[in-house]
Parts: sequence; C-alpha cells; structure tokens
Amino acid sequence: MKVVIAGAGIAGLSAALFLARNDIGSLVFERAPELKEVGAGLQLGPNATRVLLRLGLGDQLRHFGVAPRAIDVLDGPSGERLVLMDLSDVETRYGAPYLTIHRADLQAILAEAVRRNHATDVWTDHEVKGITKGGNGIVLTNGHVEHGDVIVGADGVWSKMRQKLRGSGPPTYTGYASLRTTISAELAPHLPRDRVQLRLSPNAHIVAYPMRGGEEVNLVINMRTNDPSELGPGDAHALVENWPEDIRHAVTATQAWRAWPLNGVSPTKAWTNGKHMALIGDAAHAMLPFMAQGAGMAIEDACCLAACIADLPLDEAMTTYEQVRMPRVNQVVKAAQLNGRTYHLSGPLAKARNAGFKVMTGERLIRRFDWVYDYDAETASRFRPGQPAD
Ligand SMILES: Cc1cc2nc3c(=O)[nH]c(=O)nc-3n(C[C@H](O)[C@H](O)[C@H](O)COP(=O)(O)OP(=O)(O)OC[C@H]3O[C@@H](n4cnc5c(N)ncnc54)[C@H](O)[C@@H]3O)c2cc1C
Repeated sequence: MKVVIAGAGIAGLSAALFLARNDIGSLVFERAPELKEVGAGLQLGPNATRVLLRLGLGDQLRHFGVAPRAIDVLDGPSGERLVLMDLSDVETRYGAPYLTIHRADLQAILAEAVRRNHATDVWTDHEVKGITKGGNGIVLTNGHVEHGDVIVGADGVWSKMRQKLRGSGPPTYTGYASLRTTISAELAPHLPRDRVQLRLSPNAHIVAYPMRGGEEVNLVINMRTNDPSELGPGDAHALVENWPEDIRHAVTATQAWRAWPLNGVSPTKAWTNGKHMALIGDAAHAMLPFMAQGAGMAIEDACCLAACIADLPLDEAMTTYEQVRMPRVNQVVKAAQLNGRTYHLSGPLAKARNAGFKVMTGERLIRRFDWVYDYDAETASRFRPGQPAD
C-alpha cells in the first residue's frame, strides 16, 4: 500500500506519520523549495496533542511549545477581566496538554519525524499540478507522475486537489481578516508570559500568547473588513489607541504587522471520491480561526484517515472517513462562526455578553468545550456507522 500526498503542511506531514504508525508507506510532495518559517503561532488543544503524543512527539512538542496556565478573556478597551479559564489542570482533565507553538516549529517537528521514518519521505520543490485521468496518480508541474493506492490532497486553502475532486473553484472570503505579528517578549514587558489573552471589542478582537519558551509573543488582531488588502500596521496601532498600556505597548512596538484575509471552504461538500482520493485539513474545510482549531482538525483528519485506510477496504475507508469527520468539523466551523459574532458585539449586546461572561465561572466555560478537547480522533475513527461505539 502506498499513499501519495500533496502538501507538507501540518495536515500532510501528520498524515504521513499516522500512516506510518499503521505500517503504510507514503510520499509527500511540497511545492516550497524548503520547509521554512511560515505562519505564526498556533494553539493546540488536547484533542490535537493527544494523538500527536502517540506519534512519540511529546518531548519535542513540550520543548518548543508553552503550556499556558489560563485563557484570560478581557474587555479590550477597558482591560477589565470578563472570565478566566484555568488550564493548569488540563492534562489531568483531558489526558493531554494545551500548548501554544510556532507553526514553523510544529512543521519542523513533524518533518523531522517524517525524515527519520523509513516508511515515508518528503520531496520539497515539487509542485502538484493535478491528478491522472483514472485518479490514482498525482501529476507534478515538472511532468513527473506518481501513482499511489490512495491520493491525499493536503494542499491548503487554495487546494488544486479540491478543485479536481469537487470541481469547485477558489475558497470564499469570510468578511474577516487577521493582522498577525510575532515579537520578542522584551517588547511586551507588561504582558503575562503564562497565559493566552483574548481581548474583545466591537468588530475586532486581539489574541496574545507566549511561544518559544516565553521568549516570543504571538499577536493576532481579527477584524471584519471588506478590503483586507488595505490593512496594515496603522490599523493595528489605531485599534489600541485608547486601550490599556500593557497591550498598547506590545501592539505599537512593531510595524511588522501582516494582513491575512480569512478564506473559508465549505466542510459539507465531498471530502473523498468514494474510491481512492481524499482531502484533509484546510483543503477540505478551511475555517475561521476563532476556535483555534484549524490545525487541530487537520491533525484529527490525518489520524482518522490513516486508521480508516489501515482497517477497511479502500472504498469503505473513504466513506467512513467522510462520515466520521464531516459532522465533527462542521460543528467546530459553526462554533468558530458563533465566536466571531459574540466576540465582536457592540453596544447593549456587548454589555449583555460581558455580564454573561462575568457570572459564568471559568470552570463552567471550559466544560462547554469538553466536546472539542475530550475527543479522541483515533477511537472515533474506529467507530463504524451502524455499530455501537466501544
Ligand atoms: C490568523 C490565524 C490563526 C490561526 N490560529 C490557529 C490556532 O490557534 N490553532 C489551530 O489549530 N489553527 C489555527 N489556524 C489554522 C491553521 O493555521 C490551519 O488550519 C492549518 O495550518 C492548516 O494546515 P494544512 O496543512 O491543511 O494547510 P497549510 O498549512 O496551508 O499547508 C498546505 C501545504 O501544501 C503546500 N501546497 C499548496 N499547494 C501545493 C501544490 N500545488 N503542490 C505541492 N504543495 C502544495 C503548501 O506550500 C503548504 O506547505 C489559524 C489560522 C489563521 C489564519
């Protein structure tokens, strides 16, 4: 059995490793000349770290990641605390850590594990152009054709593989964009190094958290805009003009803010061709980052797809993968959309939201996310529709 994968992002590399764990070989084609620093910070919930630990990556993840002690939800303009979600017992509660990590570090950890594994390999500087007529091979822009028993599209939000599978065009702009930067912690001396901070305001919210042993801070400003190409450092600085000193100091410490339009891909259209081709990660379901679960879902997809391929005849593996993953991801996508609406309320509705957060303890709030964090993608993938779960 050989699987050919397009894209060596978090989804593609995770898929290669979960396949190898199930004794299935794979080859990953990546268009970038090298896997270098791309993106910014990621939060990984215990649902994602749980299955990554099973790949033996625990030491590296803990080395490069930070385990925040809390998620602090604040009113942006006043800095008033609305609710504090304690994460200090997250490992006891869910059996796996909550980590913040640079995307480049996570990608490097996964790529290194792929290179160490004899069952799998990554070829960088190899761009995928399409698939063969029968659909069981990948065609590269350099003319090379690689056949496989299964073809996996892990080529991100602008996926060519999705266009081949669904026949649909580009992703849809969600109406939201992010401004992102990472700064040295020295430039943000007033921000705590032990927690994720979420600061809410009408039409925009800021997420700030430590990375790389607390030496760097990841800052993201998510806002509604019709024209993301116009966004720049001036917008970041203007947002916090009258906000408390701790966050204003950090946001205005740099001009190096980069705008990312947030594009979405419908999670309810085909993920497989029912035979030997599947999409995973952003290629299947790019979502708003307001649940901090895009990479988490990519990792879960990879784990589930590998288990299905290992356990079932291929056509059944494809349908089971889709049946297990589609409702789960759809639920996360909807929760992220709801968070977007809630975080950006204004006027009396924002006041009502703030009052609601204040009466809700952090303990009650975190329990609301049990369905996200308690999920085990490997166990779930071994549930067969029509049969009772273990
Ligand atoms: C502002 C923001 C904040 C976020 N925060 C979080 C968070 O806190 N937690 C979280 O879990 N997620 C978060 N996400 C989402 C997360 O970054 C993505 O969901 C995740 O990186 C998707 O991984 P992927 O491997 O599917 O796609 P990608 O990371 O896009 O990887 C796709 C890979 O395929 C390659 N590729 C593309 N086309 C081709 C081709 N034709 N041939 C060969 N290779 C190709 C690309 O070069 C790339 O390496 C955030 C996203 C944004 C924008």
